[in-house]
Amino acid sequence: MKKIELLAPAGNMEKLEMVFHYGADAAYIGGKSFNLRALSGNFDDEDLKKAVDYAHVQGKKVYITLNIIPHNSEIDIMADYIKYLSSINVDGVIVADLGVFELVKENSNLNISISTQASNTNWRSVAFWKRLGAKRVVLAREVSLNDIKTIREKVPDVELEMFIHGAMCISISGRCLMSNYMASRDANRGACAHPCRWNYSLMEEKRPGEYFPVFEDDRGTYIFNSKDLCSIEFIDQILDIGIDSLKIEGRMKGIYYGANVVKVYRNAIDSYTNGNYKFDPNWIEELKGTSNRSFTSGFYLGLPNENSQNYNTNSSYSQTHQLVAKVIEKLEDNTYILEVRNRLTTGEELEVITQTYAPYQFIMPEMINNENDELIKIAHPNTIIKIKTDNNLKVYDMIRKKL
Ligand code: SF4
Repeated sequence: MKKIELLAPAGNMEKLEMVFHYGADAAYIGGKSFNLRALSGNFDDEDLKKAVDYAHVQGKKVYITLNIIPHNSEIDIMADYIKYLSSINVDGVIVADLGVFELVKENSNLNISISTQASNTNWRSVAFWKRLGAKRVVLAREVSLNDIKTIREKVPDVELEMFIHGAMCISISGRCLMSNYMASRDANRGACAHPCRWNYSLMEEKRPGEYFPVFEDDRGTYIFNSKDLCSIEFIDQILDIGIDSLKIEGRMKGIYYGANVVKVYRNAIDSYTNGNYKFDPNWIEELKGTSNRSFTSGFYLGLPNENSQNYNTNSSYSQTHQLVAKVIEKLEDNTYILEVRNRLTTGEELEVITQTYAPYQFIMPEMINNENDELIKIAHPNTIIKIKTDNNLKVYDMIRKKL
């Protein structure tokens, strides 16, 4: 059976380390420019090289996002950046625009993935990109599994990548001007403010300031507000098609999201490739444990309907658990150094997430502030603490609490 790539987002070096540790085969990252996540931290030129070297030592891959829809001022300065990416041996670039595609061809031998922003929804466009020299096509989110199957059958000699988890756009995969109009932030240049998830009211022109709530039904309004994509319940059907790469969305999300979502899909893919696939209801519970806006199957099992919209009128994200600490070092004598991410107290009932599957219960023992060796009962975010425990913790283990 051919190797299926699990491709994860990484907005910075820490996220990259975490998604690789928890089972991603590859990561997609952005440089400081020309990508669609302007606010996700991103890597400067030196960091990009470090990230690529770090991945290659582990036999993993790094793809660089070059998927803005550029204007003249941007396109004219891209060639040097492309040459730099080529010199540091990135595994590929993700491109949405024909001009950028040609520039990459002229200035490098880099592998090119055609971004989901190019909206590939049919086999003819996938075949066309293949003829032009693309190595991979990232399918639009707006396709059904049946469509993908047809594309796979008709164009067998190009790599196909598809999204399996993460945010959905209410427009066609981010090709949307709402954010430009409402927040002067350009979604097509990586700065979407997500106004599709805001609350909307009705105001009559002659009554300024009088807002009427909008109810589409008794649950409220859900005009633009899509749930997040989740494919875990039908991942076997996706794997049956013979997709090359399965992509998780979320470069702006934290390490707990990236690591845990990767871990769940890694587990599912491995059970499929090992020939013992059986849906595990814990997978869905674990995915609910990280940031989400409720789940939908998107377009994959048929057109979205009213159940694909998030009815939560405050549009907020939910999650059942919160990351409180990460293990960063193991010392002698069962002593560990932890980085605190959210407030935690001695004696608190917590859970440890490890690289292997099941989380286990953990009671926070005595904590020592690593800076001044003082015993503390409460640890605040960004504190580095020392603890002693018989639990065999590992570097990169995450400690979480139930919300
Ligand atoms: S406003 Fe919403 S639909 Fe538009 S690009 Fe942003 S996330 Fe997508």
